[in-house]
Amino acid sequence: MKTVLILGSNIGNRRENLKRAEELIEKFCGRVLKRSSILETAPFGVLNQPYFLNYGLLIETPHPPFELLKLIKWIEKRTGRYPTYRWGPRVVDVDIVLYGKVRIETPALTVPHRGLKDRDFFRKILNELLN
Ligand code: AMP
Repeated sequence: MKTVLILGSNIGNRRENLKRAEELIEKFCGRVLKRSSILETAPFGVLNQPYFLNYGLLIETPHPPFELLKLIKWIEKRTGRYPTYRWGPRVVDVDIVLYGKVRIETPALTVPHRGLKDRDFFRKILNELLN
């Protein structure tokens, strides 16, 4: 299934963190078909924290959605994310933005991702990947 992931980092060496996450995604989640450009974005929700670098990946994954979610949570942990607070700083955050045309609405996984409604850069990245 073709799926779109958006990655973000706002702690430490942000580019290096994203690179490490992408390597793990490529290895465990599926082949990277396309990569968006990297955007610098203001923090969302909680404002007094560093700016994020964000970008998106279009991948081809053999994993069903909840398996993919488990994998990205594991990758977030491996790349050094430690729990802070909602919308707080993070080494690497990975969101599943689209999973083919599938719609899922559960607390653990909502696809298409809600960020598409309220974050301009989600739509920007998606446009870049799908055009
Ligand atoms: P966050 O702190 O923003 O990374 O999100 C925390 C929780 O959002 C995770 O534990 C996920 O279970 C849940 N979640 C819901 N929908 C999604 C999605 N589309 N992609 C990633 N996480 C999601």
